[in-house]
Amino acid sequence: MPIEIDIGHSEVIYLPDGRVHGAAKLVLHADDVDRMRAGFVCMKCLEPFERSWPERCHVCGFYVRREQAAYFAREYGGIERVYRGFDLEEERERVHEEAAKAEEGKR
Ligand SMILES: [Zn+2]
Repeated sequence: MPIEIDIGHSEVIYLPDGRVHGAAKLVLHADDVDRMRAGFVCMKCLEPFERSWPERCHVCGFYVRREQAAYFAREYGGIERVYRGFDLEEERERVHEEAAKAEEGKR
């Protein structure tokens, strides 16, 4: 399911188009992120489940029912981090534009 896994990265980044650079730097489709959020996929090992929210993942033993919602909520913060990054970029552009206008006004 993952398009790409690169173990060894600690940074978690959710891209605005739905792809995810996870704890192991995952890149996922938005659909797969939705399945994770709905409890149909183990967030730890990415094993798909027949039924949502099993007690534990039968592959890695992760406590899906107990842990996954919180785990996802924590990871989800990555999206906001990315969006903030973009906002910052826009802000920077706006400041530059205003500075340029102010510069023009002086002439
Ligand atoms: Zn698992």
